[in-house]
Amino acid sequence: MREYEVECIRCGARYSKDDIVYTCRKCDGLLDIKYDYSEIDTERVVKAKGEGVWKYRVLLPFDQETKPVTINEGNTPLYRCDRLAKSIGIDDLWVKHEGLNPSGSFKDRGMTVGVTKAVELGVKGVACASTGNTSASLAIFAAKVGFPCYVLLPKGKVALGKVAQAMMHGAKVFSLKGNFDDALRVVRVLCEEEKLYLLNSVNPYRLEGQKTIAFEVAEKLDWEVPDRVILPVGNAGNISAIFKGFSELKTLGIADSVPKMTGIQAEGAKPIVNAFKEGNSEIIPEDKPETIASAIRIGNPVNAAKALTAIRDSGGVAESVTDDEITEAQLMLARLEGIGVEPASAASFAGLKKLVQMGEIERDERIVCITTGHLLKDPERVIRICEPPKEVDADVDVVREMLK
Ligand SMILES: *Cc1c(COP(=O)(O)O)cnc(C)c1O
Ligand SMILES: [Zn+2]
Repeated sequence: MREYEVECIRCGARYSKDDIVYTCRKCDGLLDIKYDYSEIDTERVVKAKGEGVWKYRVLLPFDQETKPVTINEGNTPLYRCDRLAKSIGIDDLWVKHEGLNPSGSFKDRGMTVGVTKAVELGVKGVACASTGNTSASLAIFAAKVGFPCYVLLPKGKVALGKVAQAMMHGAKVFSLKGNFDDALRVVRVLCEEEKLYLLNSVNPYRLEGQKTIAFEVAEKLDWEVPDRVILPVGNAGNISAIFKGFSELKTLGIADSVPKMTGIQAEGAKPIVNAFKEGNSEIIPEDKPETIASAIRIGNPVNAAKALTAIRDSGGVAESVTDDEITEAQLMLARLEGIGVEPASAASFAGLKKLVQMGEIERDERIVCITTGHLLKDPERVIRICEPPKEVDADVDVVREMLK
């Protein structure tokens, strides 16, 4: 029996494993899953067999007997990127391409754990608000177990590939007249009242799955953690989860430090960057977040408190990048390393480039950028930022002439 507690990060209130609760009933604080690490055999982490998220099940909140709902998520490649590194004058750069998860984003890591928990709880259905990828992933896992799945998307603001996935896998999709923050506010009330299980990243079980990104990075680097991990920040669950993963490795004595967690937001949606720079512990929500990077177009990140702790406690930074910098980074990843990502994902490399230019990052640091979602998620934009195909006659001489 894996023992754990569900605990409020603000007031310490505890909730039982069978309780369906997302934020503290006493103080509205975020919840975290707490283990007794003295009971965990580190050999079973370091020598774990298998692949992906469930390889690390000794650090997940389930019994050994629990049957996971899985689509083989995780186990994504960590590429060494020398051409990209050279282009910005650094030595040791790696990119972990989370876009190569089954649904095309890291959300699958959270959903495999979240939906496995939903089955354990015996809920009747699942729901989420989404900028797209959460809904795509949840729709797949719901299909797998036959749960009704309801998703609320901000109208006109979701990339084509993501909506297509949610629809194709059988979710009931609503196009909400409002932004992501409005959608999350509405779905949270609906979940309470209609007894649906909420699978946004405010759900602490989801973050347990996502923390395995840290385990995979560390394992690939022979349990020597990198100096810095850089990733895009939207609702701020992933940066909190990855920090937790690295912190657990340190607590268990498997690693001796935690990487500097470095969060990148878009210029038009940067409440966490603002709070970080002003030294505040709380964010000021933004009413009209705007950026081409739709997956991080979020004005009121629900996990802000966890993310600010992750960044500050690890000695990291938060920085913002413009849409033009994001597009440039997206092209550089694609053309120097063959890594195809959606705009939000490219914020990680765009942020790295900017921080190197600012002198914030040492040139010899070992750096891992997380690219969170796949290029094909957003085909309309890809076509807009690239030169369109040239129309030619079916004639060798004509085509040869055009090669010049
Ligand atoms: C969800 C998502 C993000 C943002 O992650 P948070 O945990 O909300 O900060 C970034 N990029 C992509 C591609 C995503 O799908
Ligand atoms: Zn509390």
